[in-house]
Amino acid sequence: MEHMSNSFKNLTNRPDFKDRYNGLKKQVLNNQDVQAFLTKHSTEIEEGMIDRSLMKLFEFINQSKNCHDCPSLKECKNLLQGYHPHLVIQGRVIDLQYDKCPNKEAYDERKKHESLIKSMYIPKDILEAQFENIEVEIDETSRLKAISLAQDFVEQYNNGKRPKGLYLYGSFGVGKTYFLGAIANELASHKISSMLVYVPEFMRELKGSFQNSSLDEKLDLVKKIPVLMLDDLGAEAMSSWVRDEILGTILQYRMLENLPTFFSSNFDFKQLQHHLAFSQRGEEEPVKAARIMERIKHMAIPIELIGKNRRG
Ligand code: ADP
Ligand code: MG
Repeated sequence: MEHMSNSFKNLTNRPDFKDRYNGLKKQVLNNQDVQAFLTKHSTEIEEGMIDRSLMKLFEFINQSKNCHDCPSLKECKNLLQGYHPHLVIQGRVIDLQYDKCPNKEAYDERKKHESLIKSMYIPKDILEAQFENIEVEIDETSRLKAISLAQDFVEQYNNGKRPKGLYLYGSFGVGKTYFLGAIANELASHKISSMLVYVPEFMRELKGSFQNSSLDEKLDLVKKIPVLMLDDLGAEAMSSWVRDEILGTILQYRMLENLPTFFSSNFDFKQLQHHLAFSQRGEEEPVKAARIMERIKHMAIPIELIGKNRRG
């Protein structure tokens, strides 16, 4: 703000002020967003209002809107980081109001979720995963297919459909978690909330939540989030409680409410079914395992990620 009013003062002191002023005004009036606002409010805009509001309008056209000029919240170029302006009529002038921008909203939402669910923690490289940056080796047709399915998902979801998620499986280090992160980021850029939960840690965390009674609250959040990603399913310690009370409850709810769910696992369907059938105590419950598998198959398209181990 400071520098703008200063430059304006400097301007008024100069002999070519009138030219400059008109140049500024032209610039403001040429702006598409300003034009749209003036058209929309043409009946309320009276003589002189634009002149009285010129500095505000100039501020407006120089700020990023809807994160168009800011690749991330950290790089936000606006006066008030994380806030973008819109124009309002305030008495006899046009003024600016600043609201949270999409990047800031997504950031705040993630913080809120993180404060409740610790196992939601996402490693830094995965936080930055993007479709465009997913490296694909020549022989990785499975990854290309997965990218195309994931892009279809985002597009359809954006059009109001509720398509199936993906069940990504494959060995350690092929990039399953990274892939889920890229989908989550793509969804966030379309203002669609998702949550990436690391299953083994989440189950441990829930077990520990009996004492502080936050169990229901955590479970509720995971049940109801618009898009859920269950990362590394099959790596958790299996028990009938984990399978039936937690996993079963989450999947049942999401299936009935038509809420898309993604999975990643080291196991293919058959191996996962086997894992779900045996509790750590050695009890075998094949029917209950089959019931969970049925839900997963109903909710997600299986796709194997094949490639080198990208870790280390
Ligand atoms: P997985 O979950 O299958 O065990 P990760 O998603 O953790 O594997 O990926 C292992 C490492 O490789 C991570 O550090 C990740 O950032 C990196 N990585 C994975 N896939 C890609 C990719 N397609 N392009 C670039 N880096 C990747
Ligand atoms: Mg992983």
